[in-house]
Amino acid sequence: MAAPQILWFRQDLRLADQAALAAAAAAGPLIPVYVLDDESAGLRPMGGAARWWLHHSLASLDASLRALGGQLLLLRGKSAEVLARLAAQTGASAVHALRHTEPWWPAIEAMLPNLRLHEGTTLLPPGLLKTKTGGRFRVFTPYWRAHTAWGPPPRPRPAPARIDFAAIPAGDRLENWRLLPTNPDWAQGFDWTPGEAGAAAALEAFLPRLAAYDVRRDFPSEAATSCLSAHLHFGEISAAACWHAAVDAADEAATAWTRQLVWRDFAHETLDQFPHSATAPHRPEFDNMPWTDTDSAAGAALLTAWQQGCTGYPLVDAGMRQLWACGWMHNRVRMVTASFLVKHLLIDWREGERWFWDTLVDADAANNAMGWQWVMGSGVDSAPYYRIFAPIGQSEKFEAAAYIRRWVPELAGLRDHEIHGPFERGYRGYPAPIVDHKWARERALGAYQGLRG
Ligand SMILES: Cc1cc2nc3c(=O)[nH]c(=O)nc-3n(C[C@H](O)[C@H](O)[C@H](O)COP(=O)(O)OP(=O)(O)OC[C@H]3O[C@@H](n4cnc5c(N)ncnc54)[C@H](O)[C@@H]3O)c2cc1C
Repeated sequence: MAAPQILWFRQDLRLADQAALAAAAAAGPLIPVYVLDDESAGLRPMGGAARWWLHHSLASLDASLRALGGQLLLLRGKSAEVLARLAAQTGASAVHALRHTEPWWPAIEAMLPNLRLHEGTTLLPPGLLKTKTGGRFRVFTPYWRAHTAWGPPPRPRPAPARIDFAAIPAGDRLENWRLLPTNPDWAQGFDWTPGEAGAAAALEAFLPRLAAYDVRRDFPSEAATSCLSAHLHFGEISAAACWHAAVDAADEAATAWTRQLVWRDFAHETLDQFPHSATAPHRPEFDNMPWTDTDSAAGAALLTAWQQGCTGYPLVDAGMRQLWACGWMHNRVRMVTASFLVKHLLIDWREGERWFWDTLVDADAANNAMGWQWVMGSGVDSAPYYRIFAPIGQSEKFEAAAYIRRWVPELAGLRDHEIHGPFERGYRGYPAPIVDHKWARERALGAYQGLRG
């Protein structure tokens, strides 16, 4: 009889199009396990909002496995030690997992001699595409061209109809991991359905809106984007499944959206090459920025005003309040709020990256670092340093009135053309701007020019 095979779930909490599951199930009876690891050296523990998502996603995966006669084993501790113990206890001959690019995995994986890694986190595996000189890509447009020239990702395979499970030892109870917030329960307003079925439903609901995506995706008042980011981060649906569903539904009209999936691939390609992307600027001169001291009372107050959505700039505040209430923020508004932090307030982008890491349900080491470095101008392929988003201009251009009314109720009574602010003396409890736009813009440009010497 074949020896049991451990299937180590990480950010790939699905049964469909799961290459590690397919390989493990073909090799022997299965032991599916998720390890909650907050301890391994170098590992960045998940933020609070992502833990909320994880709880529900694990519950959903467990239910799917139970429907097939198995269950999800939950264990906690250092991944390599926990998995080695599990293999010894069950006689498993191999651990199967999908490959991920987070920088802490290689050291952990190196401690597992019988680990078999499989591809499937991105459309195409990081490192597959090469430049004409045989190097790795650092600029998106040529990467996109090479990606397109390579051809479609493999067609997704369906979830197995049956699985042969090994005897699964006793593990932890999900409730005992305390992944959900209590006292206060800040996730009360989270309106998401984590899990594989929730991901499939979100994709299905988005497909009829695909054709309008190209022209409407930048308008935060509209539901023009897919809201699939957390499902994709936790691997509840494969990027390849999303790609093929979009192309099957809309053919050429799907390109604007599938291009975003390639941006996601590019973020993983970048993180794979630069493991310190979350903490070190790709362009080292950016380490010399004259950042605001957030340990001082004045600096801390600015950071808090940004985090709490009380800057006096309605679009920025709407975005930060949406983030707190939903664990998600519209992409255009992520760019505006991030730019406001690093350029208007001259606060180190790493403060913003950390805040997003803790508050986003889709907090992702690759996408978050790339987003922040792009806005900052310090990334491998990023916005030029002199591009400073004007929060009022962006709000008007992308018709954010309804979005602001929803998230900044103090301003709900204002008409479309009045709502973008700023209100020099505040407005019915809504704050006056914490910084003057023109002055802040000049100061940021001066600081950036100072870096160039
Ligand atoms: C400062 C900043 C921080 C960000 N942090 C994260 C993060 O932690 N996690 C995260 O998933 N995305 C992050 N993004 C990228 C982007 O904002 C989100 O992926 C997007 O808003 C998610 O909404 P959606 O699923 O409706 O996207 P859609 O517009 O429907 O796009 C489909 C998918 O493509 C991918 N995608 C879209 N835009 C980007 C992008 N710019 N870079 C990489 N992948 C992209 C996502 O997986 C997304 O779900 C960040 C962007 C910025 C500017």
